[in-house]
Amino acid sequence: MFKKVLIANRGEIALRVIRACRELGIATVAVYSEADRESLHVRFADDDVCIGPAPARDSYLKIPRIIAAAEIAGADAIHPGYGFLAENAEFAETCAASNIAFIGPTADQIRVMGDKAAARNAMTKVGVPIIPGTPGPMEDAEEALICAREIGFPVIIKAAAGGGGKGMRVATEPDDFVRSFQLARSEALSAFGNGDVYVEKYLARPRHIEFQIMGDRHGSVIHLGERDCSVQRRHQKLIEEAPSPGLTPELRAAMGDAAVKGAKAIDYVGAGTMEMLLNDDGKFYFMEMNTRIQVEHPVTEMLTGVDLVKEQILVAAGEKLSLTETPAYRGHVIECRVNAEDPARNFQPSPGRLDVFHPPGGPGVRLDTHVYTGYVVPPYYDSLIAKLICQGRDRSEALRRMQVALESFVVEGVTTTIPFLARVMANKHFQAGEVDTKFLERETDLLREPA
Ligand code: ADP
Repeated sequence: MFKKVLIANRGEIALRVIRACRELGIATVAVYSEADRESLHVRFADDDVCIGPAPARDSYLKIPRIIAAAEIAGADAIHPGYGFLAENAEFAETCAASNIAFIGPTADQIRVMGDKAAARNAMTKVGVPIIPGTPGPMEDAEEALICAREIGFPVIIKAAAGGGGKGMRVATEPDDFVRSFQLARSEALSAFGNGDVYVEKYLARPRHIEFQIMGDRHGSVIHLGERDCSVQRRHQKLIEEAPSPGLTPELRAAMGDAAVKGAKAIDYVGAGTMEMLLNDDGKFYFMEMNTRIQVEHPVTEMLTGVDLVKEQILVAAGEKLSLTETPAYRGHVIECRVNAEDPARNFQPSPGRLDVFHPPGGPGVRLDTHVYTGYVVPPYYDSLIAKLICQGRDRSEALRRMQVALESFVVEGVTTTIPFLARVMANKHFQAGEVDTKFLERETDLLREPA
């Protein structure tokens, strides 16, 4: 087993990984930027190393500084968390070359799945359904338009290297296609350093359903259930739940089988997520695989009782998964992402000092957070301040628990998404489990405080 793990991340996920290491008796090293000097992950780790100024590109994204920090502190493994370098194949390779275990999949697995066009091809080969689209990246706008007409409008133009809801453009009709295509290409090049884009069918009202995958180096790949992440803004998730209210047992089994088949096709090792879209006609399609632990992993942890971060560490150390098949579900789980943002202003970030931070508690309530009263939310990173996860014996108990928890969650000093989340919980469509990725585009009243 590892002796010392460096966590190449910040915020709540850094704390989450530190906890798992402690339970396993592994020492920890925190890295931090100058803006995170006062952060809890620095306080809770056994060792800490400052890796540079506030902007992520000068600190959390600097591979040589992180490797140097690991060497100085004597870490034999690195956990990348999510975001930053978590899906950077070069980072995984550099770790290996420096004799440091990367707690995640292999660089090749990251590479295949990190290129959405390559991932589509890999899935097609093993018969996992993909969204109808061009067979690979397209360069010529006119040629792409011919493909788009065959696929049928509306279509979505996606950056092969895109992620985090960025690098996507919808073209509703042939007239705006060429312009959108060219814009998408130049945006992809400047945002991801890779201008490759491809075109796929834009589904009208899909659900976003993803399956949690775990694989080990002994040939075992299983899924640990689904998460329904259909409540989104700008293609980014806000609320996740499991089991999905939109799945029948048959559909769940079929999608779960496809997810495992897709991950097995690349002998996947570690924690990963197969993201799929479920169309309103009951057809489902592979969308992409995230080759890391995800923000919403606690949903699955509460649903199954499995500690996914501990499994990641064990698997990276060469051990077998602690379970051999999909565990039974324990009731129903809902997660709300609490961001320091203003929903009424297009979710504009609201950084600053938390004058009061009083979190909820009680049975079935989990809060993953790195903030506290007096903490200053820096403007440099994403604005997630807490993840509130509630479990109940069934959906209505989980939902009610979430409502009570949100009502008693007091944050002062910055604008947060808490009141907005409470309005979603009270929405009749959400309560009926009738959501798709366009839910918030229809229910725009939810974004504003009622007069
Ligand atoms: P990212 O890698 O940036 O997270 P994804 O490919 O996972 O991007 O897509 C994110 C979200 O964008 C999906 O959950 C869905 O809401 C929307 N989306 C992506 N592709 C399509 C599509 N073909 N049709 C409809 N919505 C889509």
